[in-house]
Amino acid sequence: MSRDADLTRRRFLGLAGITSLAAGLTCATGAAGYFLLSAVRRSHGAADPSPTPRPLSLKQIERPVITSRTDWGAREPNHEARNESGFYSLLNEEGWREYEGDLRATYTTVVVHHSVILETADDATMREIQDLHMDDRGWADIAYHFGVGTTGAVFEGRALDVRGTHVEGANTGSVGVVFFGNFEETVPTAEQLGAGEDLINWLALRLELTHLAGHMDFNDFTDCPGRNLSYYLEALAQSAGLELGTGGYVEPET
Ligand SMILES: [Zn+2]
Repeated sequence: MSRDADLTRRRFLGLAGITSLAAGLTCATGAAGYFLLSAVRRSHGAADPSPTPRPLSLKQIERPVITSRTDWGAREPNHEARNESGFYSLLNEEGWREYEGDLRATYTTVVVHHSVILETADDATMREIQDLHMDDRGWADIAYHFGVGTTGAVFEGRALDVRGTHVEGANTGSVGVVFFGNFEETVPTAEQLGAGEDLINWLALRLELTHLAGHMDFNDFTDCPGRNLSYYLEALAQSAGLELGTGGYVEPET
């Protein structure tokens, strides 16, 4: 009986708050970075309407609509890729690793990225990212498990039961979600934030995740996912009932 009420409440606390912030920032893009900086300062000084992570009390969150690899025109993985060659073994630790057993026992953390690459159409962005990762980075497939387009479309990336290649030294147990855009320079769209929130809420529940981190939290050599998306990470974590940061990462057993 309470499912609809819970979803409504969740939307009120999470999505509505996030998208209204996004709308405010989007409207202010003409005012360069000044508005963003002052908005962040204001937000950090203001009372937080939802200060503690909410427990995952929802029994059901609908799976978001996800555009399949076939539908966005993905290439097949290349198991001869120079930097992710062959299949994982103790002798080939950087190989293509397919997780065995229940994925809930493997995944702890969702790691948020920005693509920097941005084409006019979201499916074209997904193909460009895959080409970059396979042809230039030498990986077997696109690094991330999901993409979130500027229109709010969500894309299937690398299979969820395969380890990603999106964070140096911390891929095992980390779900990679990339938001399309360069958020050092622009801001995410309201549709994108809403779709990303729905996706992360669903992943958190389905995989029994504990943490959400930005890529730069793991790898300090990068500014990914960019300051204008990093701004929302705390709200995204709260909405999904996750802790913010790298504390959930578990070294893989060898
Ligand atoms: Zn990244």
